[in-house]
Amino acid sequence: MTVYAQPGRDGSLVTFKPRYENFIGGGWVAPANGNYFENPTPITGKTFCEVPASTAEDIELALDAAHKAAPAWGKTSVAERAVILNKIADRIEENLEMIAVAETWDNGKAVRECLNADIPLAIDHFRYFAGAIRAQEGGLSQIDDDTVAYHFHEPLGVVGQIIPWNFPILMGVWKIAPALAAGNAIVLKPAEQTPASILVLVELIADLLPDGVLNVVNGFGLEAGKPLASNKRIRKIAFTGETTTGRLIMQYASQNIIPVTLELGGKSPNIFFDDVNAKDDAYWDKAQEGFTMFALNQGEVCTCPSRALVQESIADPFLDAVAERTKKIVQGNPLDTDTMMGAQASNDQFEKIMSYLDIGKQEGAEVLTGGARADLGGELSGGYYVQPTIFKGNNRMRIFQEEIFGPVVSVATFSDYDDAISTANDTLYGLGAGVWSRNGNIAYRAGRDIQAGRVWVNNYHAYPAHAAFGGYKASGIGRENHLMMLDHYQQTKNLLVSY
Ligand code: NAD
Repeated sequence: MTVYAQPGRDGSLVTFKPRYENFIGGGWVAPANGNYFENPTPITGKTFCEVPASTAEDIELALDAAHKAAPAWGKTSVAERAVILNKIADRIEENLEMIAVAETWDNGKAVRECLNADIPLAIDHFRYFAGAIRAQEGGLSQIDDDTVAYHFHEPLGVVGQIIPWNFPILMGVWKIAPALAAGNAIVLKPAEQTPASILVLVELIADLLPDGVLNVVNGFGLEAGKPLASNKRIRKIAFTGETTTGRLIMQYASQNIIPVTLELGGKSPNIFFDDVNAKDDAYWDKAQEGFTMFALNQGEVCTCPSRALVQESIADPFLDAVAERTKKIVQGNPLDTDTMMGAQASNDQFEKIMSYLDIGKQEGAEVLTGGARADLGGELSGGYYVQPTIFKGNNRMRIFQEEIFGPVVSVATFSDYDDAISTANDTLYGLGAGVWSRNGNIAYRAGRDIQAGRVWVNNYHAYPAHAAFGGYKASGIGRENHLMMLDHYQQTKNLLVSY
């Protein structure tokens, strides 16, 4: 067990500045209006730094820098860009623990997740796209004896990116790595709840990129996000956040006829067929673990398996077992590597989850475990901690239909295969889903019949860079990860040449 020292205390791996500026054109630039906002750590609820409350003026400045940098960056060879992306990956890897502590302090998540998942995945993302851009081939088709068609991949130019607070670094890197690989310059706006860790990352890698290729402007949605997303000087807007905000982003983009990538909300079903607990073995253990994934990252995951559908015939023993397992989830200081569940990312999010705990109870759902705030005492008593909670109810309840984005799973039972699939698909969303069955045919069929962009079969919450990720229905448009992501950051030039 390691307990990392809190930032600001002796022995801490990370030193935050008391005040950050925007990162524009390769340097730190104060916001034009001179306004900053306070950024608390969810671990204790205390402010640890100030961050610019930027406005349209700062966005314009960042776009100036990006436009200055974009032509030369877009003309670098793919080999040069791949070398830079690999160097960025190496730099992050060399500083993995420091970045992990920064992310934990800013977001409240358990440091073990940052050390073992978030940051290693971010590193791999840069390496993956360094390889992907070199592997991408252009096209040449012979049209007739005299004429050939050449196809070239060209960068879009300057792109806007807006990210949420649940995986600040990983969501940032999911957007930054492919955009850079494809030769674009970037203006990125982090979420106001978690503005600091991404600035620590940018400071760490700044010398590896030409000035102006990557710019970060902090601030709130309407004041800084809207002037970016609606700006005539971007050639694409990539957004991850709530479905309601995604609708606005699409409206802004429509004015400028630019492409959008929207990674939005979810209410993912996790289906357990009746053969999962047939015997006490490694599979049964894995399936229980798959159920408790609702509490991973404090449930603040867009693909959180927040609806568990369990076949009636096994419901009692299954739910007894998973409730016991859920009670063993260790809550505590997020900087302690033994801690499995940390703090919710903000007080607003904490309050929202608490209100859904009330809604679930008022709707008549049964609380199998949890259902309240977690009081961890001492220094943590001001932090935003919630008990992992299992509700049992039915799919018509609000707790089954609305995204809570917390460590709360709503369980319903189903009678047969058709009932399972129709209940799973009875939602606005279509981002993720899980299927658990020892029967390969059932698992395969369910995987195909569920309307979701990612279905995990006999596993959950794996995010390899080379597996396409994105939503059906109100969960979004476009995909992230995978080679196909490059298409979202490039345009195709066709040259039809007669000789
Ligand atoms: P949010 O929509 O409130 O905010 C996301 C970002 O958009 C923030 O940076 C915010 O400042 C900005 N923003 C807000 N209003 C804006 C506007 N009018 N114009 C431009 N920018 C604006 O979402 P959130 O609460 O930060 O994130 C949680 C949501 O994100 C959940 O719904 C979750 O499911 C979703 N999410 C989806 C994925 C995915 O890959 N599909 C991944 C992570 C999170």
